[in-house]
Amino acid sequence: REDGDALIQLKSRKEIEAIARGGQVIAGLFREIRRWVTPGVSTGELDWFADDFIRSHDGAVPAFKGLYGFPGSVCISVNEEVVHGIPSPKRRLKKGDILSIDVGVRLRGWCSDSAWTFPVGEISEATRHLLTVTEESLYLALEAAVVGNHVGDIGAAVMGRVNGTGYGIIRDLVGHGLGREVHEEPQVPNVGRPGHGPPLMEGMVLAIEPMLSAGSDQIRTLEDRWTVVTADRTPSAHFEHTIAITDEGPQVLTGVVPEGYQVLPWPKPETTRMA
Ligand code: MG
Ligand code: MG
Repeated sequence: REDGDALIQLKSRKEIEAIARGGQVIAGLFREIRRWVTPGVSTGELDWFADDFIRSHDGAVPAFKGLYGFPGSVCISVNEEVVHGIPSPKRRLKKGDILSIDVGVRLRGWCSDSAWTFPVGEISEATRHLLTVTEESLYLALEAAVVGNHVGDIGAAVMGRVNGTGYGIIRDLVGHGLGREVHEEPQVPNVGRPGHGPPLMEGMVLAIEPMLSAGSDQIRTLEDRWTVVTADRTPSAHFEHTIAITDEGPQVLTGVVPEGYQVLPWPKPETTRMA
């Protein structure tokens, strides 16, 4: 279907700056909240912290609160939960758990979206490896988000990292465009073929978000009608950044990517001109 391309909203430089301001709130939240991700803390308490942190930035609100009726301020998914876990004061973390926090911020009408999976205390070597591969697959996917590539190159980059590990790529859930809305066109699957799908263009803003499981790539939704779990109940990891596609390269708006990846940080480093 090529006619879907017409629905992709390209953003101006100013609009990307506006999205990045919300993105920096999320980046700050992840820097702060990680020290609270410890055994004994409840996911309800983490939700409260996140809500308070976001609203302490003038004009920022948690974009997921009430989105399609979601009850929490952020999504918090533990172990076999992939996404859309509902925070609860009754759900207390244990050593060895992993915890995915998925955060949307709306700031002056512009949305940003990012997720991170944290270890709770010491975790097993096997689970640590799942986190590492998922995080690396995100960075490789971000690198593929360049003008001249297509949406399929992003999924192909995720597959390139995951192939051979035995992990499942959750393909029923996808990344997405965003801007005025949390979810806009195009869909950004975590599987794909190079050169396929909509062409990537300057001004596209995308949430790229590989979700992997230690086993099956199949998912189920629990009776709460929100929480998505792996069908085989193996642990799942989720890493997500919002990026802008620019003529200079992909620019991450919700945090910092480690050195060595071809991704521009926000704000863009000043280009010094010598007279
Ligand atoms: Mg998200
Ligand atoms: Mg998203």
